[in-house]
Amino acid sequence: MIQLSQTKITTWQQCERKFQLRYIARQGWPEPPFALDLAAVMEQGEAFHMLAAQSYLMGDGFAFDPADLEEPVAGWWRNFIDNRPIPKKGQTARVEATLTANLTDKIKLVGRLDVLFLGKNKLEVFDWKTGKPRRESDLKADWQTRIYLALLYQSRQILGAPELAAEDVSITYWYPREPKKSVTIRYSEAWHAENWAELLKLAQQMEAKLERPDEVWPLTTHLATCGRCPFNAICGRKPEAEPESTGEEAIDSVPELSIHPDL
Ligand code: SF4
Repeated sequence: MIQLSQTKITTWQQCERKFQLRYIARQGWPEPPFALDLAAVMEQGEAFHMLAAQSYLMGDGFAFDPADLEEPVAGWWRNFIDNRPIPKKGQTARVEATLTANLTDKIKLVGRLDVLFLGKNKLEVFDWKTGKPRRESDLKADWQTRIYLALLYQSRQILGAPELAAEDVSITYWYPREPKKSVTIRYSEAWHAENWAELLKLAQQMEAKLERPDEVWPLTTHLATCGRCPFNAICGRKPEAEPESTGEEAIDSVPELSIHPDL
């Protein structure tokens, strides 16, 4: 059974051979050596996720001295305390819940939610993002958004909200550095029909490939993808010179990816 996460879908869409090597043949996947500043950013993101989770799990019983926190986590925590999402009447908070839904016999969709506010009339998921705020249009197209909303809606029965309309399902990307720029995206019946159909199609394509595990699955024709792929020696593709970078882009994108391990 393949557990299909956002990372796996993105890998599949980048290169089917990469997906095969990484998830079917389980070739080693060396992590890039992170610069010290990047490693520190990842630790800060992890620390914030842990604090936020504990605050919902333990409520008033979560006692620690915020003076022990260093910046920027201390500032994120202050922002969180002043602005944090609070369950409405009739809602309960579930922390780091994992949801799954079968797409085919061999492939199921999976997502782990930072915090879910669960009620009979509303399902709201909150995802902490310690990077810079992103545009709503980009977030809407992101597989994380599409997977989480689809999972919530498909799971409405087991979550105790069988009558729920898709419009009552939402995801909020919550930015501790700028809570006012947090973005809420609502689902809809029409979007779900389209989204679920695309997920099913992807799963069926993958399942057809799984029937032929010994074949070499198609290599990407987008050679730039191969430059930094750890499998380029296997594929006979040339590594490319590292593009010049200030590191800013990586610092903003790595923490969330690393905090949420590939399921
Ligand atoms: S090197 Fe290129 S073709 Fe080979 S797995 Fe990686 S991305 Fe795909």
